[in-house]
Amino acid sequence: MSTLGNKPDNSLVSNAFGFLRFPLNFQPYDGDADWVITGVPFDMATSGRAGGRHGPAAIRQVSTNLAWEGNRWPWQFDLRDRLKVEDCGDVVFSFGDAQDMSETLQAHTEKLLASGKRCLTFGGDHFVTLPLLRAHAKHFGKMALVHFDAHTDTYANGSKFDHGTMFYHAPNEGLIDPHHSVQIGIRTEYDRDNGFTVLDAAQVNDRDVGDVLAQIKEIVGDMPVYLTFDIDCLDPAFAPGTGTPVIGGLSSDRALKLVRGLQDLNIVGMDVVEVAPAYDQSEITALAAATLALEMLYLQAAKKGE
Ligand code: MN
Ligand code: MN
Repeated sequence: MSTLGNKPDNSLVSNAFGFLRFPLNFQPYDGDADWVITGVPFDMATSGRAGGRHGPAAIRQVSTNLAWEGNRWPWQFDLRDRLKVEDCGDVVFSFGDAQDMSETLQAHTEKLLASGKRCLTFGGDHFVTLPLLRAHAKHFGKMALVHFDAHTDTYANGSKFDHGTMFYHAPNEGLIDPHHSVQIGIRTEYDRDNGFTVLDAAQVNDRDVGDVLAQIKEIVGDMPVYLTFDIDCLDPAFAPGTGTPVIGGLSSDRALKLVRGLQDLNIVGMDVVEVAPAYDQSEITALAAATLALEMLYLQAAKKGE
């Protein structure tokens, strides 16, 4: 078994790789990919430690260790046999200009969705999810949000660009329905009256995974789902490289079991955010993010059948 999955035809360019060594395609709108990966090197909306702008590069770098050919445990098939994935690199925006990032990312995502692609995006801080939701809601209508995080990010008192306010704005803009949305792993104070179901970290760590998954499915129902994973949902022991770590989080094992259990949902868009490699140790956080992203793609591949 080779670790060099998707080896480029020209082996001299072995450093030019996308996530999981998927092909790089800087013109992704015209391609025939099922899912397109985009990085967003943006961290100007952080409240604590900045550095998430380096997240996409760290996730891609460590993902080369996951680029095995063949079946991946516990799945019984090779992702590449069922799903065509391309990596289009990072969104380019005027540095220091959060408005430009937001508009550029939204326009890019709208164009991908209009051309029949689905989007997996790497942050960047969690603010990037708001322009992503705007683009997805234009295409799919109002969605359910499945949100893994230590924080609800529903705070009303932040500035226009604040990585703690996206899910206050998103229901107000009609992008998501909080009554069909669920926030998993929360362990910071939050508004209890805004309609979201919060499954806090203490209960998610104590409850049976199957029981939690059944509740998530019950809440979400048949709605189109946007899946967002803030890596600080994991305990800092499993993900130290992030901007606002909070102890008492999920293990990587529990998070993987929960994500793998979402395959019955109609997931139409996905992101993994808040990896800040400057605070990471041994690439542990980037590896967790890359592995979770890979499992999210497996969910989509599993749906496509043989
Ligand atoms: Mn967040
Ligand atoms: Mn968070």
